[in-house]
Amino acid sequence: MMTIITQQGRRIEIISQSELCDPLNMGEYVRAYCHIHGSDHQRSLSINKETGWGHCFNATCDATVLVAEWIPTLAQRLIHIHSQAGYPRTLWSYQPRKKRSPLVRQPVLLHLTKSPPKWQQDELAALLTLDGLMRAALVHSQRARAYLDERRIPLEVAQATGVGYLPQAMLSRPELQGRRNILSRWAERIVFPLASPTGKGYIGRSLWRWQPGMDENAHKELLDQQRKPRRWIKTNPAGWFGYDLDQLADSIILVEGAFDRLTLLAAGFQTTEVVALVGTAVQADWLPPQVKAVVLALDGDEGGKDASDRLAERLAQAGIWVRVCPLLQGKWGKDWNECWRRIGPQSVRPIFETYSKLRSA
Ligand SMILES: [Zn+2]
Repeated sequence: MMTIITQQGRRIEIISQSELCDPLNMGEYVRAYCHIHGSDHQRSLSINKETGWGHCFNATCDATVLVAEWIPTLAQRLIHIHSQAGYPRTLWSYQPRKKRSPLVRQPVLLHLTKSPPKWQQDELAALLTLDGLMRAALVHSQRARAYLDERRIPLEVAQATGVGYLPQAMLSRPELQGRRNILSRWAERIVFPLASPTGKGYIGRSLWRWQPGMDENAHKELLDQQRKPRRWIKTNPAGWFGYDLDQLADSIILVEGAFDRLTLLAAGFQTTEVVALVGTAVQADWLPPQVKAVVLALDGDEGGKDASDRLAERLAQAGIWVRVCPLLQGKWGKDWNECWRRIGPQSVRPIFETYSKLRSA
């Protein structure tokens, strides 16, 4: 066990799963006797299996814990920040376990990661083999290029981020025999590469029945009707667009959509500075230790402000500096890309300002 104090003054016990005393599976949570205050009467320690965070409900203990093996990157980050802040690392302390709380090791039971169903594994494998072809197709497809143009995204920006296109004709390639069915839902889609700690993935935006000159909102309405192809589809696992663990800058900007990321890159930000969440929740654990600061530039729709605030709080708890730079919803558009199309560079000026302030702080 290691005790650390965050920059916000929060005390966190980073524990190993082997320290859990007689842990019991309770759905989303694991309950264990609290080895921090030494309880053997009831399992007062409750830990969320997915997030690795836990809490002791004993009022005199009130410990906040993080199970290191479950959330290794975050645990490392906290330890790293802690050691940089000048705290002695000798706070490591091992506490004797109570005799009446025999240790039960059940790591597999405690922290299950489900593997995706077979068809999803096949789908992802097929897309991965097409990666190079899809990137080339983006350059050669007039339709895909016209769509990027409509979104005011330069082709070079899309190319630099590994964006591709899957034309219907590609599915007739002989080497895809037997995999056509699984890939058919990806036809006529702009395809964005995703990444997460569990691996690679893709998200695809349908261009079904899109014609050059058609406004993005009109196309959105068309696709949102019943029984039309879904506007966006993802593989399992999915991930973030622009997530390269080793390359990420020390200050990054989080946006919601794939086209919002391309917008910021078109405006002059570096590929290492902007990450699009594309519907995958923010997990502080995903951020590598070099990331010290985050600008949250999420869409400002209903409830978006609350979501941003909650997210900012969670990131701050993980020792990250956060600034919120919400989109002024409704004024020029529903997302950064729409504002960019309407009013150009001045749409993203608030992000530049927030970002440079954060970097000089
Ligand atoms: Zn306790």
